[in-house]
Formats: sequence, C-alpha cells, structure tokens
Amino acid sequence: MHPDLVLTNARLLDPGSGNLLPQDALVLSGGRIAGFEAAAAPGVEVLDLDGAVVVPGLVDGHLHPVSGAERTAGADLSGCTDLAGLRAELASARRELKDGQWLRGWGLDPNAFGDLPVSADTVGLVLDGIPAAIDLFDAHSMLVSRRALELAGIDGPRRFEQGSAAVVCDPSGRPTGLLLEDAACELVEAVAPRPSFAELCRATAEVLRRMAAAGLTGGHAMDANGESLAVYAALEEQGRLPLRLRIAPWVQPGAGPAELAELIRRQGEGGRRWRVDGAKLFMDGTIDNGTAWLEHPDCHGESTGAFWPDPAEYTRVIGELHRAGVPTATHAIGDAAVRHVLDAVERAVAAHGPGARHRVEHVETVPDDTVARFAALGVTASMQPTHCTEYTRADHTDNWSRRLGEERANRAFRCRDLADAGARVVLGSDWPIAPFEPLGVMAGARHRRPGRDLRQPPHLPGQALTPLQALGGYTLAPAWAAGEEDRAGRLAVGHRADLTVLAENPLTVPDTELAGVPVLLTVSGGEVTHRAV
Ligand SMILES: [Zn+2]
Repeated sequence: MHPDLVLTNARLLDPGSGNLLPQDALVLSGGRIAGFEAAAAPGVEVLDLDGAVVVPGLVDGHLHPVSGAERTAGADLSGCTDLAGLRAELASARRELKDGQWLRGWGLDPNAFGDLPVSADTVGLVLDGIPAAIDLFDAHSMLVSRRALELAGIDGPRRFEQGSAAVVCDPSGRPTGLLLEDAACELVEAVAPRPSFAELCRATAEVLRRMAAAGLTGGHAMDANGESLAVYAALEEQGRLPLRLRIAPWVQPGAGPAELAELIRRQGEGGRRWRVDGAKLFMDGTIDNGTAWLEHPDCHGESTGAFWPDPAEYTRVIGELHRAGVPTATHAIGDAAVRHVLDAVERAVAAHGPGARHRVEHVETVPDDTVARFAALGVTASMQPTHCTEYTRADHTDNWSRRLGEERANRAFRCRDLADAGARVVLGSDWPIAPFEPLGVMAGARHRRPGRDLRQPPHLPGQALTPLQALGGYTLAPAWAAGEEDRAGRLAVGHRADLTVLAENPLTVPDTELAGVPVLLTVSGGEVTHRAV
C-alpha cells in the first residue's frame, strides 16, 4: 500500500456516535481510507491539520448543478422583498441589456408581490417591450413579459400532460405572464436563447468549484435535463468535476414503456465521479403556486390536484421501477401527494419484495400518521430545512403559510418528527432554490432562523434537529439512500476518502455560529478539491 495523502494532528469525528475517534491521523490510498497510523514514506504528502476536525465528506441530498448554473446566470432577484425593490433590480438589469437580448432573472419570491397577483402587469413598465423570463424561487414557475409570450406564440390557456402545468390567464382568457410547471415554462424556454455548451460547462465548473470550497464532496443531482450528462462528462475529462454526483433523470407523466426501458438501461452510466442512479418523479407542484396536492384545498381553493393526471399511472411506474431495482425520488409537498407516494411504494414492495430504496423530496406538510409511515416503509425523507427558515415566516404572514392556514402550516417541514419517528432524513439545499453551503443548511436545521437575520424568531422550533442529526443528514443518510453505507458516510478503513475538514467541531459550535466555521480542506476520492490550509 502506497499512501497518497496523510493527514496528521486531526480530530476525527464519527457522525454515528458524535464522538471523536481515538486516533489522530488518517492515511489515504487508492481513493480510500487505508488506515489511522501515520507512517512516513518517501514522496508522500503529509498535511498537519493542527487540530482541525475531519468529518466524512458532506453530501447535499438534493441539488441541480447544471440547470442551476444556467438559471443563476441572470439577475439575482432573491433579495427583493417588495415590488419597489423588484422594479429597481429589473430596471438595472434592463440597462445592461444589449439590443434584442433577453432579460433573465431568478430567485424571485412571490411574497414580493404582497397581495397583488404575480403577473407582468403587476411588475409594470420595466418589462415593457423586451423579452424577459424570470424564474420564481421555487423553479416550478416563471414570470415572463408580454414580448416573451408573443415570441413563444402563447395567447391563451393550454392543456398539458402535467396535471398542474398551466398558462395562467386573467378572467378574459389573456395570459398574465405567469407560467406554472415545467411544461408551461418550456414553451418560453424553447424560444429563449440558450448558453453554448462551452458557456454551460464554464458556469457549471465555477459552481462546482464553489461547492467544493463550501465543503461538499458529493451531491444527489435531481435532474439530467438538457445537456447535463454531457457537461459532467466534459468537466470530468478536464479535471473540473470536484463533486461526486449521483444523478436521477426525470420520469414525467405520459412516459411510455420505451422511455421507461431507456431510463432503466441508463442506470449506472457515468464516469469516475458521476453516475446515473435512480429516477426523479413529481407527484405535485408547490404550495406557493397553488399546484401542490393537498387533501383539502388551500385558502384560494387551489392545490387540489396531482401532477400525474392519473395518479394510478404513477403507482404503476413506481412498481415497474422498483421491480427493475431503480431507486426513486419523488417530489411530494402536499399531504395528499406524500400519502400517494407512500402508498405506491407500499404496493411495489408488497408485489415485488424489498429492493430499491425510495425517497420523498420536500415533504412540506403532513399529518402524524404519514410521518410514522416513513420509518415503517424504509422510505427516506429528503428535507431542505432552509426552504422553511428562509422563505416562510414564523408569524405565518407569508404566502406559503397563509395559503395553508394555521393547522397545516404548523405540521410542516417536520424534520425532527421524522427523525424521531425513526425515518432516515437526508438534508439538502435544492440549490439553486436555496444557497448550497452545507454548514448554512445544517445551521438552519438547528436554529430554524433565516441565515440573513438571526434575530428573527425561530420558525417551528420544535422541528429543530440536534447537531448530530443534522450532521447525519449530510453524511450517513445520503450514503444509505445511495446504497453506499458500506463505503461512504463514515471515517472507516475501506471507505471512500471523501472528507471535509472544518476549523471547529460542528457538533459543539453554537448553532448560530456554525455557518461561519471555515472549511479548511475538501477531499474527494483522496484528491484535494479545496484547500485553505
Ligand atoms: Zn429540486
């Protein structure tokens, strides 16, 4: 065994027990953890960590690297909290445009509209005469200008195979500019200019570099949209893929047998650090857009339907994927959507026996009996605590809470209840929906406050995770969800040398200080991908 890298003077943190291991060195060889005895060998790099804390490499359980890199190329509107602020940001983005260029923006929070409709008319003159497409923060909806509607030939309502997709129209049937769900947004995307492949690679590489610097060694990428897979392959070849990505392509309503067979065939395709593994499905949309699937309508009478017009068809697809050994991840936000996914998994396991590991993404509002079913069925809950702490308010004056009403807004984002009920809870950011910094997400999971203003009261403090639960959500849980618990997620001999080195022990640092702890070193498969020591 010839070591590649030796780390000494380290505090080695076990995410299972929360204890420091008795050893203080780590020997990496052949991309794996080879042992704990530092032995001098010629030509081997030895890094003295000076008491820094080594944790297993942090893995974001839900992100979108390529589509996120593309989306975040436009104006960042995530800081706009009211219409005046939004108009000012758009005006300054408009001034930068060259003739005929599209105005693109992202991260728009519908709360900026207050009680007014999210529409091109509400935004007003600043969008007049130019093609503009703005992603709302949930990435399930887009606000486009009249000119963009014209270029896309959208002049009235449309029907889609995705149940909750819509061209929103006013009572006279005139589109307002708001497009709901992928199928509707795609109408405009199809006529908007796209970045070149090289530009996309450059943008993605930069995002991945920043992710590695934030301590991420891996991520579960929840789409293979557009040229994503080609981008990963190209970046790997150029030595610019610092994260290990597990990629779940989408299965959309209307997918026929040939499409499913193709998805099953592609499982395992990939390179050294990227691999197609699993499928991503949607059972509903979002609360904010009124496209979630709730047992009872929201206060506008919306969020009553499934994303699959025939939910039984979804159940059949889950059965088929389970039989083929394909792990699935289903976006399900409303209580009815989550229930339906769990029913489908239950039926698949009853029919074909245990096998592929399934998960539900987001799980925003569910009753007690649904919480209990996750552990019983072995379904992973994939949670994004910062969606709650950054985009809803503790006093429930935000759009999301008002739509749901007190009872349902109070049984929401139940990270702690799920963990305490024995469910495996994977944590993630859903970047670009929320910032990807893993320490920030773990901090939000613990203090339940918006990272930008820690003086705010905590939102649903009863759902706060313990420091150990939060760390497990970035280490043990994603390893299990990926079926890699025998080779990832812990500091053990034979495990992959995916490591994150922090200046402080994340379990003992105060919740409100965690996000600021320096990331000193990130190692992926024994290779240093970020270094600040
Ligand atoms: Zn997502």
